[in-house]
Amino acid sequence: MSEQYCPNCHEKAFVWALDEEASPNTLWYCSAYKYHAEENEALENVCSHCGNKTNLYMKAGKEFFRFCTSCQCKTEASPW
Ligand SMILES: [Zn+2]
Ligand SMILES: [Zn+2]
Repeated sequence: MSEQYCPNCHEKAFVWALDEEASPNTLWYCSAYKYHAEENEALENVCSHCGNKTNLYMKAGKEFFRFCTSCQCKTEASPW
């Protein structure tokens, strides 16, 4: 698995894992600053900025947002 840009610190240290017993969502973890987020993969869509299908719908704590791992744009989103 390749490392992606982190929406929190913007280091290329963001990796995902699946643990279907813990959560149906994709779990993301930043190894630089121990930042965790969950992704609802069903709601992944095309980024309106760069056109890549890498716009992730994420949840970190109580915050919901969209983050594009290609162009690193982050937008607030309503809870899924
Ligand atoms: Zn980070
Ligand atoms: Zn983008």
